[in-house]
Amino acid sequence: MMDEGSFNAQQNGGGKQAQRARRVLNCGPCRKNKLKCDRKRPCSSCQLRSTPSSSL
Ligand SMILES: [Zn+2]
Repeated sequence: MMDEGSFNAQQNGGGKQAQRARRVLNCGPCRKNKLKCDRKRPCSSCQLRSTPSSSL
């Protein structure tokens, strides 16, 4: 049940922040290669890519 008081408070409660479009969290390489990005710096994928232990 909703109280009229709280309902009116929400109605009159101005200053509602308008959410902007979500930023692209995935890093470049992950977006390009469609990899799973942890959104870290660097992310797991980037760390794996930049891991010197990987012998090609
Ligand atoms: Zn990434």
